[in-house]
Amino acid sequence: MRYISTRGQTEPLSFSDAVATGLAPDGGLFLPETMPDLSAKWREWEGLNYPDLCFEFMRLFATDIPSETLREIVAKSYTKFAHEEIAPLKKLDESTYVLELFQGPTLAFKDFALQLLGNLYEYQCVSRGQTINVLGATSGDTGAAAIHGLLGKPGIAIFILYPDGRVSPLQERQMTCTEAENVFAIAIDGSFDDAQASLKEIFADQDYRKEHRLSAVNSINLARGLAQCVYYLYALLRLPKEARARVEFVVPTGNFGNVLAGWMLTKMGVPIPGFKVATNQNDILHRLFTTGEYRVDEVRASLAPSMDIQVASNFERFLYYTLDESADPVREVMASFKATGSHRFEGFAPAGFSSTHCSDDEIPEIIQRVYRDYDYVVDPHTACGFKELSPDRVSVVLATASPAKFPDTIKDAIGVEPKHKSLEVLKSRPVKKHLVAANTAAIAKFVADYAV
Ligand SMILES: *Cc1c(COP(=O)(O)O)cnc(C)c1O
Repeated sequence: MRYISTRGQTEPLSFSDAVATGLAPDGGLFLPETMPDLSAKWREWEGLNYPDLCFEFMRLFATDIPSETLREIVAKSYTKFAHEEIAPLKKLDESTYVLELFQGPTLAFKDFALQLLGNLYEYQCVSRGQTINVLGATSGDTGAAAIHGLLGKPGIAIFILYPDGRVSPLQERQMTCTEAENVFAIAIDGSFDDAQASLKEIFADQDYRKEHRLSAVNSINLARGLAQCVYYLYALLRLPKEARARVEFVVPTGNFGNVLAGWMLTKMGVPIPGFKVATNQNDILHRLFTTGEYRVDEVRASLAPSMDIQVASNFERFLYYTLDESADPVREVMASFKATGSHRFEGFAPAGFSSTHCSDDEIPEIIQRVYRDYDYVVDPHTACGFKELSPDRVSVVLATASPAKFPDTIKDAIGVEPKHKSLEVLKSRPVKKHLVAANTAAIAKFVADYAV
């Protein structure tokens, strides 16, 4: 299986090369050249446990990795989850389920992809006899999940930039209290946008990038999307058969990454009738699905911070399919969007999608309501999913983070402070962070000094 770019100006690559490359050189995102047909096969996977299901799925894509090696990589990636089901599906009532995606080491759904990506990077290092330096910027969950995907791995160092004082204290502890030698949490005296801008400049310097064998971890990596497909399949296979035909996955999302993963399964012939795109007050996607206009707005900090984004970078993959798998119009739309900050899609009404918007005022009310109705505590991101469920559907709401990551919001809403032992342990560990000026030269020097 080879991987092509949404913008059509990159030579197709193998799975491992596409994963190592991240963003395609033409600025596009990688996609499988052809989709495997799962229309008959997926039902045969009923009864597989999570790692076995993940292996059966990933082997269709990672065709350049020997099968037994891939099986080991996948198995290892789900050993640090606290629940034996890995992604437990909990029934709240006849037509409402939650899929708990927060049982991984950093208590948010990004662990599903980043544990696997960490092990893929490790395999690459070993098989190519090279070291890798991974560099990323974060406003919270991604950095923590990336660090926990790579910590302690020989031949790999990970550098995560974050805005000092502007990530939640627990998120900071997840990044800085790992006690791992190969983790460098870099607190810069600037904003997330400053961190992101420096990162871009560093990656644009091809010589520097080559010299230090830099790799990126961001949500556009091919392996992340594929790893996320698996929990949709897993949930579908655990739903009662009569519910499957009426299911709507409700996905709290900011950059469209998570919902896109589920929808990709429909391109492989897996029948999933509905998706609800659940946004917070930064609702570019809700506006797109209700008006057909894709327009960048100012980001406003919300109670669901991991969904505070401006540009839904993974949307480009969806665009590629809605434009009949043709790269020329994708390039045109992306260029016009970049130039003007907006694009209007005529007659935009993709089948199976609905959307909601959830303001910050509503989040605590929803947390209260779900607690009252179901005796179940949802985090502020998952709360956006519970805004409004479709009455004629069986809803599976993706719970993207543990409520224990957001103790203040939960306590304000229901008077109970959620705790989680993995977070309590961190409170007694020393913080190790590196304060660096928010300028590209200083950051590049730091990385060069500590690179493996
Ligand atoms: C990252 C994140 C999201 C948003 O994910 P998308 O990739 O934008 O779909 C939602 N909830 C939590 C807790 C997250 O960490």
